[in-house]
Amino acid sequence: MDYQRIISKVYTSTLAKDNIGKVPDYIPELANIDEKKFGVNFTDLKFNSYGHGDFEEKFSIQSISKVFALSFVYERLGEKIWDRVDVEPSGNAFNSLIQLEADKGIPLNPFINAGALVICDILLEISSNPKEELLSYIRDLAEDDNIHFNEKVAVSEIKNSFRNTAMCNFMKSFGNITNQPEAVIDLYCHLCSIEMTCKQLSKSFLYLANEGIKPLSNEKILSSTKAKRINAILLTCGFYDESGEFSFLVGLPGKSGVGGGIVAIYPNHYCITVWSPKLNRKGNSYRGMKFLEEFTTKTGESIF
Ligand code: GLU
Repeated sequence: MDYQRIISKVYTSTLAKDNIGKVPDYIPELANIDEKKFGVNFTDLKFNSYGHGDFEEKFSIQSISKVFALSFVYERLGEKIWDRVDVEPSGNAFNSLIQLEADKGIPLNPFINAGALVICDILLEISSNPKEELLSYIRDLAEDDNIHFNEKVAVSEIKNSFRNTAMCNFMKSFGNITNQPEAVIDLYCHLCSIEMTCKQLSKSFLYLANEGIKPLSNEKILSSTKAKRINAILLTCGFYDESGEFSFLVGLPGKSGVGGGIVAIYPNHYCITVWSPKLNRKGNSYRGMKFLEEFTTKTGESIF
């Protein structure tokens, strides 16, 4: 399969179409991005890597960092983590509080904000320096030390974290947050503020395409069962209340972030990352979804 040619064709045809949606402004610092940015990178398990457009430019990975945090905590804590967060699609917006009351403070899955806040709370319990440990975990996955927090974005989000703080306090009232909400929010917003390129993201997700093993070094990041389970949650919950639509149109597990990035995984083969900042109504990159839909249509490759 000539992936390079397919990527270039799909890039050109996506670029020629409307770019609908808007950049998020509830995190003021994210609203400053040039909404015309558009990058794609494909990296496979044999380290063939093809990029197009702005694929070497860093952007705010936002919720994509929830996958790294989950992997880190899951490997260390094992199945116990599912006592504090469930694995069901939410059918609600990523920042919704609505279901938490009925579920007594147990978030439906680790990729909605409430679930990621619980994972951050666990991180604070098991690590004395979670920010630095998580950053070095991600640098190791990407085999690249040039990955950093963006303090301006973190501070901008912390200052406007009214909903996430409400969630944290609410879950604390049920006993599902053990640390001070301020500490959980600080960690969460820093993880969301990490900046990476499409190329770095594709490479750093390869362990999920490779049964939990980092391809070049053969280092085991997760057991194959755990990698399977994270892929399963990515498929059912990786795109908030548009996860069904992403599965339906693209057919790959993946994760989006409100910075406009999407990483998709074709197990045993490759990862592909798309970045385009304008978001659709559900908070997923408009062009990112369009690109991946056409890409899997042209390759005929999906998990189904
Ligand atoms: N930092 C964002 C928030 O909490 C992450 C959401 C996302 O990327 O989906 O709202």
